[in-house]
Amino acid sequence: SAKGRGLNTYALYSPDMNITTREQIVLESSLRKAIENEEFRLFYQPQVDISTGELKGVEALVRWMHPSKGLIPPNDFIPIAEETGFIHQIDTWVLRTACRQNKKWQDQGFPHFRVSVNLSSMEFLDDGLVDVVKEALNESGLDPKYLDLEITETMTMNVDHAIPMLRNLSSLGIQISIDDFGTGYSSLSYLKNFSINRLKIDQSFVRDISKDANGTNIVSVIIAMAHSMNLEVVAEGVEQKEQLRFLQVQKCDEVQGYYFSRPIPAEEFEQSFPELIAKVKKLY
Ligand code: C2E
Ligand code: MG
Ligand code: MG
Ligand code: MG
Repeated sequence: SAKGRGLNTYALYSPDMNITTREQIVLESSLRKAIENEEFRLFYQPQVDISTGELKGVEALVRWMHPSKGLIPPNDFIPIAEETGFIHQIDTWVLRTACRQNKKWQDQGFPHFRVSVNLSSMEFLDDGLVDVVKEALNESGLDPKYLDLEITETMTMNVDHAIPMLRNLSSLGIQISIDDFGTGYSSLSYLKNFSINRLKIDQSFVRDISKDANGTNIVSVIIAMAHSMNLEVVAEGVEQKEQLRFLQVQKCDEVQGYYFSRPIPAEEFEQSFPELIAKVKKLY
């Protein structure tokens, strides 16, 4: 297991270290406190059925509520958490919190939808992952079909690991999505061997829809290929009506992006739920 590896990487301070390394030391020690003090927060972003506007899922996205720096986005601390091994505790916390939150929404009478959780590559490589997921499901009581794990294309490149891991995860009854699809170099021929449910088209391709015929072409190809393998397709980063229209014509299944909603905290999601649903319906 890679867990805990790297904890000593930054243990020694020397004046020769550059600023970046010193900043990393500072971040590393405050990351340790962040875990103890439970400073992480989950924001949720809707995934909407492209033909009906129905809410099909929410993606859980972690933020660090730093006591002095304020809200820190994941790209600024996940890489350090990966280098230092803290990512295991963060990913486990995210998984448990997302499962508990979704079950709570169901118990409160909200319509049922999936919750999607992002996994780091270290987590996906860890053979203990299946038990961690099982435990999160058991303790929350969430029906497995309402949990979705997002892994990136690059994580599947070690197919000898990926094929059995995906099979074991999907045998729990959960769903699996390939995130940022189209940006990695995974072998397409292996996709059919993977126990997965959907592909998430990377936002860089969605962004190109409005400007560039080539980008739109990649989107169309991914959707057709996914459907030929009985996979669903979610488009990420939808910001404009014309992108939505194009994706509708191409029969994309679901859309996610600022056009519908930014990621928001659970309380805001609950409070704005009726308006959110009404707003999404109006966008059609
Ligand atoms: P991702 O999983 O691909 O998540 C999508 C990112 O795009 C999110 O950024 C989201 O806020 C942003 N986004 C959504 N709609 C739009 C849009 O219409 N336009 C634009 N420009 N951006 C949009 P965020 O929340 O900053 O997360 C960044 C990345 O950090 C995620 O990319 C994911 O790889 C990672 N991450 C987030 N939460 C977790 C977590 O709990 N665990 C791990 N291991 N990684 C996480
Ligand atoms: Mg994601
Ligand atoms: Mg993505
Ligand atoms: Mg990403």
